[in-house]
Amino acid sequence: MQNRINIELSLSAKEYIQNAKQIVIVPHAGPDGDAIGSSLALMRYLKKQGKQVKAICPNAYPEFLTWLHGEDELDVFENNEEACTSYIKESDLIFILDHNSFKRSGDMGKLLEKHSATKVMIDHHPMPEDIADITISDTAMCSTCEMIYEFIDAIGGNNQIDKDIAECIYTGIITDTGGLSYNSSNERIYQIVGDLMEKGIDKAKVHDKIYDNYSASRMKLLGYCLNEGMELLAEYETAIIHLTKETLAAFEYQDGDTEGFVNYPLSIKGINISVIFMEKDDTVKISFRSKGDIPINQMARDFFNGGGHINAAGGRTFESMPKAIEKLKKELPAFYKSL
Ligand code: 5GP
Ligand code: MN
Repeated sequence: MQNRINIELSLSAKEYIQNAKQIVIVPHAGPDGDAIGSSLALMRYLKKQGKQVKAICPNAYPEFLTWLHGEDELDVFENNEEACTSYIKESDLIFILDHNSFKRSGDMGKLLEKHSATKVMIDHHPMPEDIADITISDTAMCSTCEMIYEFIDAIGGNNQIDKDIAECIYTGIITDTGGLSYNSSNERIYQIVGDLMEKGIDKAKVHDKIYDNYSASRMKLLGYCLNEGMELLAEYETAIIHLTKETLAAFEYQDGDTEGFVNYPLSIKGINISVIFMEKDDTVKISFRSKGDIPINQMARDFFNGGGHINAAGGRTFESMPKAIEKLKKELPAFYKSL
């Protein structure tokens, strides 16, 4: 089977890499397994090519991903703004991974936007903004990690993908597809996974680190979400979960603890839309999931300042949580009718 990435654009990016003196790789803020996995995989590959390169996260990454990287492999912009800023300013090539708008990388995005360095985007979200010199964007890909595998392969580096790089890539593929359950029907993905297995990934270890690594309080928080925290609107095939700051504090919430929770209600017969509202600082963060051809990203985009994929989207609002939930309930009937 054929490599699915745009070969021509990949080869142009390879030229940029060859000419670059210093490279920065940026995942989106609130990074998930795909954002971290793709950034680390590309960084390790470029290091093997002898390049000066750093991966810098706009903000903290979840605890369950810390095993993926070494102590000083991943910088966090928010934790060390001064040093990260000067490194970014000295860099001449920037990779924008797993996002397609500077709005998704916070204050770091503002810095990158002004920066004259050459920019390469590798991403699988809809509607990429015109912010890079090379935009490799493909919504048919299950994950940015799949794209990074294809990218390295396309530029002749497949034999450089070692076990560590392969585990990063595998992490993004499984975290963005719910363990290869959704958005993963192209056979090429399984060829890639097969190749990653050949490269020696410890599949059982990766699954254990990602899925069987809950703190007791995280598991209890999940229990709360599915019990007291969940409201079913059967008429609209929708489940809503809400989490106040107080609830999160009571369950000793850590960044990333609610990752994946929004998917659970979709296992209920007749529920095809799931939404989680979560109070965070002075905003309410909202995650949306849907099944089939329900374009939940439209709801995120039109009413909650967000966007995303057809079946997985996010947004935020500065309104109170009750107001935000009220808004969803108000918009839901028309949205549902339009399906
Ligand atoms: P999550 O619910 O896991 O935070 O996000 C799911 C997907 O929604 C992400 O992969 C991303 O595509 C999209 N997403 C989340 N938050 C935002 C946002 O604020 N703006 C946009 N455009 N997309 C978002
Ligand atoms: Mn992704």
